[in-house]
Amino acid sequence: MSRAPTLPPAILFDLDDTLITAHLHPREAWHRAIDGLPERPERLDVPGAASAIHEAARWFWSDPDRHREGRLDIHTTRRRIVSRGLSALGVEDDGYVTRLSAHFSAMRTAETALYPDAVDTLVALAGRGVRLGLITNGSAAEQRAKIERFDLARHFVHVQVEGEMGFGKPEEQAYAHALSALGTTAADTWIVGDNLDWEVVVPQRLGFHAIWRDPVGKGMPAGHPAKPDRIITRLAELLEE
Ligand SMILES: [Mg+2]
Repeated sequence: MSRAPTLPPAILFDLDDTLITAHLHPREAWHRAIDGLPERPERLDVPGAASAIHEAARWFWSDPDRHREGRLDIHTTRRRIVSRGLSALGVEDDGYVTRLSAHFSAMRTAETALYPDAVDTLVALAGRGVRLGLITNGSAAEQRAKIERFDLARHFVHVQVEGEMGFGKPEEQAYAHALSALGTTAADTWIVGDNLDWEVVVPQRLGFHAIWRDPVGKGMPAGHPAKPDRIITRLAELLEE
């Protein structure tokens, strides 16, 4: 039996891949999407196409400016990524690019789920007087749809969506705005999320206690300079010492 932990006055949570599943196992997901969509271009090799699109996605998301612009219009971005990946294989087929992108998006939406201990953990934290904030990057339409689908807003004192604010993580303004809305300071606040830059490196520089959410237990990527204050695989660990 673990002892009751010393909880902070406030905790800021990320949404995607922290409270809900969103972007896990991308190469495998592309493989299933290509495999599940009929009328492939002739001679398209499924694993080869999955790898090429996965590589195009890694390239796309590796640049912070491209990332910011791309996540605010995810459907256009998916088409760009699929088109780039297939072009690398010499496949130019706009109709297929559009159909595969839409199919992948629909598949991801259907598979998105709450982590099993998410709601219980939020309820228990709020019950112990912790003021909870949700701070998520992405467009208003995409992020609000997920928040509503899983009825999450009711657990939070403050919900902040990048597409509604015009700023997002890792901009300092995003953290400052959330702290002010929660009536707290970074020193009194934990932040919990799966992105090592947005929810560990930058928040630590601002004085937060940063908890890295590692939902599949993959461990820290080799050579990454981030030093999370704590690493959790289950959300319920927040309630344990
Ligand atoms: Mg995330």
